[in-house]
Amino acid sequence: MIDLHTHSTFSDGSDTPAELAERAHHLGLRAIALTDHDTTASHDEMADACARFDLELVPGVEISLIDTTFPRHAANGDPQPRGVHLLAYFVPLAPEHPVQQFLARLRRERAERNQRLVQRLRELGFERLTLERVRAHAQHDEGVGRPHFAAAMFELHPEIVGERTPQTWSRLFVDWLGSTGRAYVPKTTLTLEDVVDVARGSRTVLSLAHPLLNYLSDASAARVEAEMPAILASLRARGIAGVEAHYGGSNAATRALMLKLTRDAGLIPTGGSDYHGHFKEDVSLGVGHSGDLRVPDEVLEELRAARD
Ligand code: AMP
Ligand code: ZN
Ligand code: FE
Ligand code: FE
Repeated sequence: MIDLHTHSTFSDGSDTPAELAERAHHLGLRAIALTDHDTTASHDEMADACARFDLELVPGVEISLIDTTFPRHAANGDPQPRGVHLLAYFVPLAPEHPVQQFLARLRRERAERNQRLVQRLRELGFERLTLERVRAHAQHDEGVGRPHFAAAMFELHPEIVGERTPQTWSRLFVDWLGSTGRAYVPKTTLTLEDVVDVARGSRTVLSLAHPLLNYLSDASAARVEAEMPAILASLRARGIAGVEAHYGGSNAATRALMLKLTRDAGLIPTGGSDYHGHFKEDVSLGVGHSGDLRVPDEVLEELRAARD
């Protein structure tokens, strides 16, 4: 069993890399990818910890992008760029590599987005919110993201968002921070094609993270069967190698359907829990949301083969 989608304190997870490696060891994982958002800064710490636990580490990152081929439609019908997440495996780690320069640009855009998001929330009534109070929930300034905003909003403005529970947490994203929310501020104009271009020749393998969260507002089996095949075919044509069919946030039936569609499209079915520690209370490392996720070891062999 392996887990190829996890977050640490270097982005919006709550475990340090060492805690994550220890947890993975106790769970009996054979390999893990730490896929913090737009950064590989956690890699060295994670590599040391994994070596102590005899756990294989796949260098990874989760990249924030937009897909202009499949725009999202706002409530008034206007098309908007669709924000999507790509997982990148075996990423080059040298700071001067173009892939790392690309990630550095995304982190600058994230910092600018965070400034604008604070402004926007203050205008909407979260007047006690400041960037400092948001940062207090994060361990590394470069990794500050929306879950840290959510934590600060619960801390400072329970009169608006209520007491923090898994339900109010989800609602906060629907009402405020998510793409449907009143305070939504897009992060980047860099596209899926841009990351494919910059990764070309670097032996990085790209896989679409949580396909349903990215592309479908309603994930009924009928919608998945009607809409995913064209999306997956387009991704493959644009240079993406895999799709996270074994996604920890999906139930077993949805995962089975996505596994079939992924194979039909000629893509590699990757998988992971999207573990975030207390920033996603209902998701467990390795086994995901429903507890029955099992990502087969062979996925890693397929990813390795795709490098060549
Ligand atoms: P950011 O990197 O700042 O754009 O924040 C993205 C992160 O916010 C995701 O990786 C999730 O951890 C969290 N997130 C986004 N949408 C939701 C949602 N609807 N419910 C819960 N968490 C979410
Ligand atoms: Zn996250
Ligand atoms: Fe994601
Ligand atoms: Fe993630």
